[in-house]
Amino acid sequence: MQEDHFKCKLTTWDYIYDLCLDVADQVKDSGYGPDVIVALARGGWFPGRVLCDLLGLDDLESLKIEHYVGTARTGEDPHIRYPVAPDAVEGKDVLVVDDITDTGKSLSWAVDHIEEEHSPGRVDTAVLQFLESSTASPGYVGEVLDEWAWIIYPWNFIEDMVDLVGRVLGDEPLDMGGVRRELRERFELDGLWFEVAQPNRMEEVMEEAERRGVATRGGGGWLRA
Ligand code: ADP
Repeated sequence: MQEDHFKCKLTTWDYIYDLCLDVADQVKDSGYGPDVIVALARGGWFPGRVLCDLLGLDDLESLKIEHYVGTARTGEDPHIRYPVAPDAVEGKDVLVVDDITDTGKSLSWAVDHIEEEHSPGRVDTAVLQFLESSTASPGYVGEVLDEWAWIIYPWNFIEDMVDLVGRVLGDEPLDMGGVRRELRERFELDGLWFEVAQPNRMEEVMEEAERRGVATRGGGGWLRA
């Protein structure tokens, strides 16, 4: 998220759970029976845990990949921040799970890493949401998004909202109505849907933005801290 105007889509737990159900059905229909799920941290954790439940798997592993961007390095290099436990996937059929593929690099790096370092059996991939712009082609996809948007998942609602609030605040105080208006105009966050998806949470978002040093109170409203 770099620019100051882009489309955001706020999702709910129910909606995300339905996508998990769709992915699980696809895996079952395909006949694939993975032994272990490797969930990419952090976005793959909720889907990974739910897919374990839906597919009847005990083994859930985590893999955290970080991207280096800009300053110290040129371009983007994968960096395995927290690898898979050495014997967790050896000889096993693996399902790598993430929330969304944007460029698709995370997913393909994860697969390469597991195949090169851990001698697994079959390795397949699943994502809840797939942006058509992605170069990857995951094995199982909950939903294809034909238009790019930043998806606000329920598990990082506060994190994303604090980030967005930080972008709309400035030197002129904004009251809550002003903050909501800016969120609508710049990030297409519809106020009505917001209250359906995450009822009564704007106060909490602003308080958390203050606690995290992003926002401060002043002039009868909110300012950039
Ligand atoms: P990819 O390698 O698939 O492009 P990125 O490296 O761009 O993924 O992003 C890594 C993580 O950032 C994703 O797993 C997801 O959690 C989050 N992310 C990326 N794009 C989006 C998006 N459009 N909306 C919400 N989260 C995203």
